Amino acid sequence: MQPEQDLLPNMLLSDLQTGERGVVVRVAGHGAFRKRIIEMGFIKGVTVESIQNAPLNDPIKYRIMNFEVSLRRSDATKIEIVGEQEAEKEIVNHDDFQPLDAPDCDAMHHIAEERGKTINVALVGNPNCGKTSIFNIAAHAHERVGNYSGVTVDEKVGTFEHGGYTFNLVDLPGTYSLSAYSPEELYVRKHILEKNPDIILNVVDGSNLERNLYLTTQLIDMDITMVMALNMYDELQRSGDKLDISQLSNLLAMPIVPTTGRNGDGIGRLFDKIIEVFEGTNKSDKSDKSTNFRHIHVNHGKELERCITSLRTELRDHGFSDTLSTRFLAIKLLENDKQLEHYTSEHDPDGSVLKMRDDIGSEYLKANHQDIESAVTDAKYAFVRGALAECYVKNEKSTLHAGTDRIDALATHKWLGYPLFLCVLFFTFFCTFFIGQYPMDWIEALFGWLGSLVEKAMPAGPLRSLLVDGIISGVGSVIVFLPQILILYLFISVMEDSGYMARAAFIMDKFMHHMGLHGKSFIPMIMGFGCNVPAIMATRTIEDRKSRLLTMLIIPMMSCSARIPVYVILTGAFFGGVKAAFIMMGLYLIGMVMAVLMAKLFSRFFVKGESLPFVMELPPYRMPTAKAVLRHTWEKGKEYLKKMSTIILGASIIVWALSYYPTHENPHYQAEHSYMAQIGKAIEPAMRPCGFDWRQSVSLLAGVGAKEVVASTMGVLYSTGAELSDLSDGTDLSDKAELSDLVRNNMTPLSALSMLLFILLYMPCVSTIVAIKNESGKWKWALFTVAYTIILAWVVATVFYQLGSLIL
Ligand code: GDP
Ligand code: MG
Repeated sequence: MQPEQDLLPNMLLSDLQTGERGVVVRVAGHGAFRKRIIEMGFIKGVTVESIQNAPLNDPIKYRIMNFEVSLRRSDATKIEIVGEQEAEKEIVNHDDFQPLDAPDCDAMHHIAEERGKTINVALVGNPNCGKTSIFNIAAHAHERVGNYSGVTVDEKVGTFEHGGYTFNLVDLPGTYSLSAYSPEELYVRKHILEKNPDIILNVVDGSNLERNLYLTTQLIDMDITMVMALNMYDELQRSGDKLDISQLSNLLAMPIVPTTGRNGDGIGRLFDKIIEVFEGTNKSDKSDKSTNFRHIHVNHGKELERCITSLRTELRDHGFSDTLSTRFLAIKLLENDKQLEHYTSEHDPDGSVLKMRDDIGSEYLKANHQDIESAVTDAKYAFVRGALAECYVKNEKSTLHAGTDRIDALATHKWLGYPLFLCVLFFTFFCTFFIGQYPMDWIEALFGWLGSLVEKAMPAGPLRSLLVDGIISGVGSVIVFLPQILILYLFISVMEDSGYMARAAFIMDKFMHHMGLHGKSFIPMIMGFGCNVPAIMATRTIEDRKSRLLTMLIIPMMSCSARIPVYVILTGAFFGGVKAAFIMMGLYLIGMVMAVLMAKLFSRFFVKGESLPFVMELPPYRMPTAKAVLRHTWEKGKEYLKKMSTIILGASIIVWALSYYPTHENPHYQAEHSYMAQIGKAIEPAMRPCGFDWRQSVSLLAGVGAKEVVASTMGVLYSTGAELSDLSDGTDLSDKAELSDLVRNNMTPLSALSMLLFILLYMPCVSTIVAIKNESGKWKWALFTVAYTIILAWVVATVFYQLGSLIL
């Protein structure tokens, strides 16, 4: 895995100074533009000399193969080269180059050759067509796959070797179209246009061709080099549908390789094909027919084509070059694409292109009684249907998804869907907490043993106290929850991969709408049970800005797994078995109810705007693969452990130090006067109404860094306290009491419940706050979240505690 990097990181032709030479590595950009450049002679491995390149000079003059050519500066930025200076630097760094005897370009050629061995590929396709599965297999990566739309919200880059080439593979978010309606669509479009990948790998769900090929038609408009992965090929075969692949490949004028992303079938061949196409595009001679696919236009029908052509001519007359396919631009302008309108008006300040666009649009409307935007969509679907009519026979008697229909009769039933969903939730939490208890006990015993071992082996003093009370008990009190977190993630993964999560979102849609949210908001909310940070990032799949912001603001109400440790300690201390499971589930439900109330409140008063209707996609159920589920679960577990070894270790040490110092001979005096106690006591008055003493107050305060720290702080504070009181009444220190016992001695059930509520609701951890800031784009909303959660937690806990004290 590599961080996101620019796909043209090296020197560009436009950087070449007058008199300098360079060797061409690759020509980016697409279609007609690229062809023109290549035909001018700018092909891989050719030496270019800049004859005249002054900063304000446009075009720039070059000598190439003894011809002089001039290129626009903007075109020259699409050509990657190796320059002389670069080559010299490499020679210094590399032993395998001989110093230049002749000032020839050997080194430059060598480096260009090496760099030309890199192919940048971007995965583009509908949500849920298997892009991430292919990405994972190809790049040996561990990204999460999920059987619902919108799992990939960011791009992932993987690097691997295949067939003598290095591939930079980018997994982009799934989109149905390339209009500018959702952030993903814009994102994918921007990536294609700005990062100029060498090949677009269009992944297509073979069991859902018509809709998937719609996106393909838009990619064809962009005039880019494409290879198609016909994925879900196993399902296509099982369904009994007949598809003539070579015919489809001819019609669409692109190579098609059947693949099965789930088990990796065909993926090797897919990348062989990509290499073949890549090598083909770098040749300027057209004799090699096998790899040179012609470029087709998606025919939109006579009338529309006329509109497209006249707008395209107008664009060209205004100096729009084919760097961005003018055909694509013309079509998108006819579709009233806001972003490309903006782009156009930047390059055409007097607005005549857009004026012409408007005229064409209104004329079309008058003549055809249909707006041109929907006409374009219809024409594209007509093209796809036409193509499929020639090469595809659907098996009407297919039983492939009959199982899906049967399960959905229950899972999305008007009434039965809800109890089923509640049962699934209950089963999930029951397994998490009940089964998780066993490994948890073992880990707890292990840490207890470790603590007493160190205690026996070392003399008393700050170091021993740091190890035993700080590190071992702090980190230990959090690490014991690893099994439960893994189990919870296992369930979430299975629900996602099987497709049930999408049903949950579907049946929740009606409720969600009442709150000004989307059914789609539900998936990030459920993900919030794992960790709020990815959940907030997952809101990107919600097209509607208002719903998206609202969802972000209420995700902190979703009880993340970091809160599990302290829940377990508190419920375990006062309530056992089934009662504990119910309380735990109650907490999750209260969080959800609060989320509903807050969403309603905010959509009424703070977050303005309309919400749009949408279609929720229900993919067929698929048996999750064990590999994917386990990998996903483990990835999360690893993140948890990583957090443990950094933030939580650090926080444990700080908390320990604050409670150990200043030291005093009298242990009681020290316990009451440590820095920690001082802080706790300072805020205690404010927390009294909720029923918290200073230790609880301090623990809550410490949890702001990461929620797990609430548990570890209690671990440290109560064990220091116990040790000191143990000292005074002479009991055996090495017999380390369990934290639960300590808690039981220091809290009442009522204050424990009040604390559970407070922890559920109060301010999100620092990472979540930052995530809200990043995703909403404003600190305002992050701070708003901090403020409302603290107030809400305090009010709810206080009301609960005060009423409880009255009744009990
Ligand atoms: P993405 O949204 O395009 O990234 O799709 P994912 O890679 O997350 O896959 C969506 C679902 O389809 C997952 O449940 C995969 O296990 C499943 N899947 C992916 N490729 C195939 C395939 O070729 N055949 C079958 N049967 N399932 C697949
Ligand atoms: Mg994906």
